[in-house]
Amino acid sequence: MAKKEIMGLTLPELQEELMALGFKKFRAEQVFRWLYERSAVTFDEMSNLSKSDRALLAERYSIAAGEVKVLREYRSADGLTHKVLLELTDGASVETVVMHHDYGYSVCLSSQVGCAMNCAFCASGLHGFVRNLTPAEILAQLYYFQSRLQKTGSRVSRIVVMGSGEPMLNLTNVLKALDILHSDRGQCIGWRNMTVSTCGVVPGIEELTRQKRNINLAISLHAATEELRSRLMPINRKYPFPEAVAAADAYERMNGRQVMYEYILLAGINDRESDAKALADLLGGRECVVNLIPANPVPEKGFARPSDAQVDRFFQYLKKRHINVTVRKEMGRDINAACGQLRASTLKEAKA
Ligand code: SAH
Repeated sequence: MAKKEIMGLTLPELQEELMALGFKKFRAEQVFRWLYERSAVTFDEMSNLSKSDRALLAERYSIAAGEVKVLREYRSADGLTHKVLLELTDGASVETVVMHHDYGYSVCLSSQVGCAMNCAFCASGLHGFVRNLTPAEILAQLYYFQSRLQKTGSRVSRIVVMGSGEPMLNLTNVLKALDILHSDRGQCIGWRNMTVSTCGVVPGIEELTRQKRNINLAISLHAATEELRSRLMPINRKYPFPEAVAAADAYERMNGRQVMYEYILLAGINDRESDAKALADLLGGRECVVNLIPANPVPEKGFARPSDAQVDRFFQYLKKRHINVTVRKEMGRDINAACGQLRASTLKEAKA
């Protein structure tokens, strides 16, 4: 009998499952805590359950965080960024990154295998879209790291859904995973320490607004004129950026949290003063912050990263226009840490 995946069940779902197997209701909470508070990756670790209960669970269920296999693994030279390519049970692979900041650990989660958005600069879609990740697979990315950090008394306290894939096209599964991570019987991560990043899928932003959680919203803007943005991001032809910005405004009114606009800087493409002006004209007066990301060049895509001086000119222009602006602290540039680069290079080698 194929085992059923236990990660990703909410506490009420777990209660229902386990009670049907003859367990007392409180056992479900014990199992839930083992999975999400104590990062167990085997049933054997669940020491407040009897041996026979553990055996019964192990016979029926698998734990995704204990099943993922590491295909590749890289640590940046400064030791602060650790990136893994994880193989899922069906052979698909996803990449996940953990970053050590002064406040603690944050993890960058993927939401899909591959990506259908086809942004001109991004490696995630190089091999097309494969499928959505399940809640278990989203959780397993975090608990792969947390189960190791646990031993040193550390914990992941921030999440960004900025890995491969478009989270708004897998929103139900993403939110199910985030709800479990938010639970005070789990990883206990506050909404304000979670960020979901979208290329501008308007119905997804609207749905997130209706869902009323205090999650941070990030919009990958990357250009503030129709012609250029449509060239860089095909999604702009379906949802032109003024609609995405209007949806983000509504989101900001709902939860009062500043929206983050991500803007990759691509040399000679979107880093000119006229681009900075279009961006400032669009966002001036809004409750938002612009995060400039000097591009991480993907060889197949043929874009270059601007010089530091050019990045600074762009930054200073926005400052002068009173835009809240930061330049992304780059972590893991030496280990292909931009979205999808590790998976894409591994698939390319496998084909060759
Ligand atoms: N699909 C979502 C989330 C994943 S991408 C989105 O578009 O927001 C996370 C961020 O990394 C996005 O802003 C994306 O545009 C950016 N990104 C993709 N490729 C990059 C590259 N080569 N260099 C720098 N940033 C990149």
